[in-house]
Amino acid sequence: MKVDILGKPYRVVEATDGQMPDSFGTASCKDQIITLKKSMAAGQKADTMLHEVIHIISNELALELPEDTIRRLAVGLHSAGVKVAMKK
Ligand SMILES: [Zn+2]
Repeated sequence: MKVDILGKPYRVVEATDGQMPDSFGTASCKDQIITLKKSMAAGQKADTMLHEVIHIISNELALELPEDTIRRLAVGLHSAGVKVAMKK
């Protein structure tokens, strides 16, 4: 799966619980990769995807959003039905 963010293509990959024990997801602007924990339920995965996209936007646009603000924005956007448009 892929997603374009600010004109850059990011690969979306999944990790096992063993590979990612401490978080639901990670985002790397340097490598243009978003990693999601495979075992998450669909709703949690969609929320986490929004979270990681907001991290990337915050980094790329130098917004310097704190972690707690990113978490709250993702929850709020997810609750309003916002979904990240992913491509095969
Ligand atoms: Zn985060």
